[in-house]
Amino acid sequence: TDDRILSASRRPEDVDAALRPKSLDDFVGQKAARENLRIFIQAARGRGDALDHVLFFGPPGLGKTTLAQIIAREMGVGFRATSGPVIAKSGDLAALLTNLEDGDVLFIDEIHRLQPAVEEVLYPAMEDRALDLMIGEGPSARSVRIDLPRFTLVGATTRQGLLTTPLRDRFGIPVRLQFYTVEELMRVVTRAAGLLDLGIAADGATEIARRARGTPRIAGRLLRRVRDFADVAGAAVVDARIADAALTRLEVDSLGLDAMDRRYLHMIADIYRGGPVGVETLAAGLSEPRDTIEEVIEPYLIQLGLVARTARGRVLNAGGWKHLGLNPPVGSQD
Ligand code: ADP
Repeated sequence: TDDRILSASRRPEDVDAALRPKSLDDFVGQKAARENLRIFIQAARGRGDALDHVLFFGPPGLGKTTLAQIIAREMGVGFRATSGPVIAKSGDLAALLTNLEDGDVLFIDEIHRLQPAVEEVLYPAMEDRALDLMIGEGPSARSVRIDLPRFTLVGATTRQGLLTTPLRDRFGIPVRLQFYTVEELMRVVTRAAGLLDLGIAADGATEIARRARGTPRIAGRLLRRVRDFADVAGAAVVDARIADAALTRLEVDSLGLDAMDRRYLHMIADIYRGGPVGVETLAAGLSEPRDTIEEVIEPYLIQLGLVARTARGRVLNAGGWKHLGLNPPVGSQD
């Protein structure tokens, strides 16, 4: 599924780094998160302290990595990045921690995927800035405690509930990131077009924003594909007509759904008469892992109100039927 143009996961073609806002002022949207961070950063700086540990949670592509870098820049400290699956052994994490400079931000993406033994090393590091090392083996083994520099751990995960309770409890600043509004994404697109030196009209930016699934990473990717199309068509400025033609050719529909989303909606509509149908049944029918259904396909469809998660399974809402151009079966519960 990650080869979808609408996948929110990072893909090799993404030029995320070039499009990243560098300060909180530059960062579009996420107003509540931004204002809270601004206050905590100001307070920590005022005290000459490291910022408390921050946990970002929310779907991919919404700006977690970007905000982690912004925190480091606004705190005036170094930035080190790694990810949960990359840290194989507790020794790897110990090496990372002992190499930090005073005040550094250590960013761990997909922090819910840390090995349990590695996670254990994080607890005293986060709480007491200490590393407990075992020296020797068997009966003569003993534990020594090493002091670590001050640092801020910034963790990122898709859902807060994926973290173990002891890890979650050690983050002083939990921050939930939300899908962006069309208006916010329009600003993201306009800003990115400026950085890419591409002329874009307001209606062109809106057209891309509307189809970017509330996600800046997807907006940036769609913008670059639309630019290719405009280049070949010899258009100097991207307007709504060019954007629509390009996105339609890429099979991204008016709501930002692709073939995979429509297959999912059609399965509920055509085979299960609008549901309720269990997620396992849908996963089997679509030959997709349950995780993909729940993490990749459903969040945006639910956000749009096309589908609802109920205790008895997934149900197609009126908006879902309408988007497919179908009528709900007579006597259906919806
Ligand atoms: P995540 O870590 O949540 O997967 P990233 O921080 O890597 O997401 O952001 C993905 C892309 O979207 C980057 O190119 C980033 O510059 C862009 N982006 C994210 N949030 C914003 C924003 N608020 N304003 C502008 N661009 C953004």
